[in-house]
Amino acid sequence: MLTQPQIQSLFERLHARYHVPEGERRPHVKEEVEHFRALVACLLSAQSRDSNTAKAKTALFQLADTPESILALPDAEIAAAIKPCGLYNAKTRNLRRLAAAVRDRGGEIPRTRKGLMELPGIGRKCADIVLRFSFGQEAIAVDTHVHRVCNRLGLAHGKTEEQTAQQLDACAPGWAKRDGHIWLITFAKQICTARAPKCPICPLSDLCAAYQAGQMTRG
Ligand code: SF4
Repeated sequence: MLTQPQIQSLFERLHARYHVPEGERRPHVKEEVEHFRALVACLLSAQSRDSNTAKAKTALFQLADTPESILALPDAEIAAAIKPCGLYNAKTRNLRRLAAAVRDRGGEIPRTRKGLMELPGIGRKCADIVLRFSFGQEAIAVDTHVHRVCNRLGLAHGKTEEQTAQQLDACAPGWAKRDGHIWLITFAKQICTARAPKCPICPLSDLCAAYQAGQMTRG
């Protein structure tokens, strides 16, 4: 694992490279319907490419975007709409259970990680995405990209995204938790890609545990 000074330096470099000032970002959404839509979008995104999730989300929201309106749809109609994102039968079942749970809460979406993770089909990644992007709280959501770079860098040694999220939460400085997800995911997509990481031009190579251990190409 990296030392605290190394972790501090790593996040300072990511901040310098990828930080977007507050005024240049989309504001957080305030309406409950938008928070529900964010949960649904996250549920649909499991094991799906962003482009396919977007197609499924658009098709579903044209039919229904509230708990009540989703519950009013037949399963076959939901499944047909979300087919592009895969696993559509299981996701249809989860979507219906999620909609029923939110309806039973009077439409209110929990504002804690624990509360969100008690909703059907909502794991830690979805909970952290909603906490950060719907409610503006400090939470670094760990998806497959963040999981990969954290383990290469030595920020975590997690076998699962959940384990990585717990370790990252424990070691990341507080000031980096607000936007750390965006910095890490941008870095993962631009530099530390899955199949061909650009180690020779990586701004973090002197800190990277995998690179320093000779496990990655040195160009
Ligand atoms: S040195 Fe390579 S493996 Fe390490 S963080 Fe940079 S791109 Fe990723």
